[in-house]
Amino acid sequence: MSEQIIILGAGPAGGAVALGLIRLGYKVIVVGQSRPFDAVEGISERVVEGLKGAGFKRALEAIREPSARNATWNGASNSANTERLINRRDLDAGIWQDLIDAGVTCINARISKVNHSDTGVEVSIKHLADGPTESVQGTFLVEARGRAAPSAGLKRFRGAETVSLLQYWQGPPATAQSAAVSFEDGWAWFAMTEQGKRYLQLTFDVATANLPPKAELGHFCTERLLQIPQAEPFMVDAKPVGEPHARTSTPILCEEAVGERWIRVGDAAMAVDPLSGNGIFQAMSSALQAPAVINTLLKSPENAEIAKQFHQSRVKALFYRFARIGRDFYRMEEQWQDRSFWQTRHHWPDDQPMHVATTFDQFEVKTMPVVQGGEIVAAEVVVTPDQPLGIWHLGGIELAPVVRAVKDRQPGESVQAAVSQLNLEPIHERAVLSWLRGLGSI
Ligand code: FAD
Repeated sequence: MSEQIIILGAGPAGGAVALGLIRLGYKVIVVGQSRPFDAVEGISERVVEGLKGAGFKRALEAIREPSARNATWNGASNSANTERLINRRDLDAGIWQDLIDAGVTCINARISKVNHSDTGVEVSIKHLADGPTESVQGTFLVEARGRAAPSAGLKRFRGAETVSLLQYWQGPPATAQSAAVSFEDGWAWFAMTEQGKRYLQLTFDVATANLPPKAELGHFCTERLLQIPQAEPFMVDAKPVGEPHARTSTPILCEEAVGERWIRVGDAAMAVDPLSGNGIFQAMSSALQAPAVINTLLKSPENAEIAKQFHQSRVKALFYRFARIGRDFYRMEEQWQDRSFWQTRHHWPDDQPMHVATTFDQFEVKTMPVVQGGEIVAAEVVVTPDQPLGIWHLGGIELAPVVRAVKDRQPGESVQAAVSQLNLEPIHERAVLSWLRGLGSI
């Protein structure tokens, strides 16, 4: 049977994997349903570049021009930054259209069950909630259902349980803008669009927030918002519309994100605290590497172990990186250090610094997995305490031979002389020497 890859979920992660696999010549089926709630999110230019790089076109049409972003943290306000607001339903609709345009088979249905067997995978789907169940067969499964993806019995590492309550307000047409604000029991993010719709999001610690029953959440949100002065511009002349929507925002790392015939990407592999404002970026990061991992698992099973190691180690490293960025940002808020929300988050996931200072003596040459020609292969890379996954190239120059030449040079031989024996192009030799100089090794 020729390989047929089934992707569950068509958010940014599922979409990016689908486009990558189509480029590698695979038959791809995406099964997904649009998200059941309205949400606006903020993204940086880095995400726009990531979406472009993944090959999205129609999805880009959902991205607005940058708008003002005000931040009030630790009592200080800053309005120097901007962010781009996106309506997630519009973004996801654009992704869906991009997949159709690229030749992906797209099935709009609810996934109810997944069965793995020795020969492949069977996914049970329903087009209508009360309709009949159908099934779709494939030989490889990509789990990209975001935070809604079932844990499937896999071990997961979770941060403090966190919930974000999103209340919708409607007011007169407005200048698009957003604001992030800390308060004693959490933080808030507000956005409004030109059409006057407002998205007021409050994030709390589940254990200590004393949230009321569902029917009283609307009143609870409004009361809390009225206590936050920075919410006022978003509430003036506006009224709450409908019921608030609760979103889990607990950081979660799936400690097993890949097997012989399946892989998890995006939030299904690791979901970060929305404080980072980087969820879509990290979802895309794990998704962009996945096609090469899948290609290796299917075409070069002899490299399956290094392909799995490549995916898992990067997912984990990315998770800890964003978790520590979040921790350092929480630590910058010092007004409510005795409050449970802040205490818990000031020391999670650990107290390790974001970056470890390194010297050239600590550099090692090791064989690690890298991406080459659409597959994962083993190559010699330079590993440092700050870059444990290794650095393969610097501006197109392989670094392992450089580090080895410098380390193995004869007593009395200069670094320049050792590097010159590599016969690099003059421009590359200058770049390498400048890199070594920056490390203090010359
Ligand atoms: P998703 O985008 O969640 O896509 C999964 C898809 O699978 C969805 O379309 C869903 O409908 C579908 N699906 C799920 N289950 C089923 C099923 N059973 N059957 C069929 N389809 C199914 N990120 C930012 O960059 N900026 C922000 O401002 C931001 N704010 C956030 C605020 C909150 C409160 C939260 C919780 C997250 C926020 N994020 C933000 C993170 C961002 O939403 C996610 O990281 C990103 O969408 C993950 O992409 P994904 O493709 O992995 O999953």
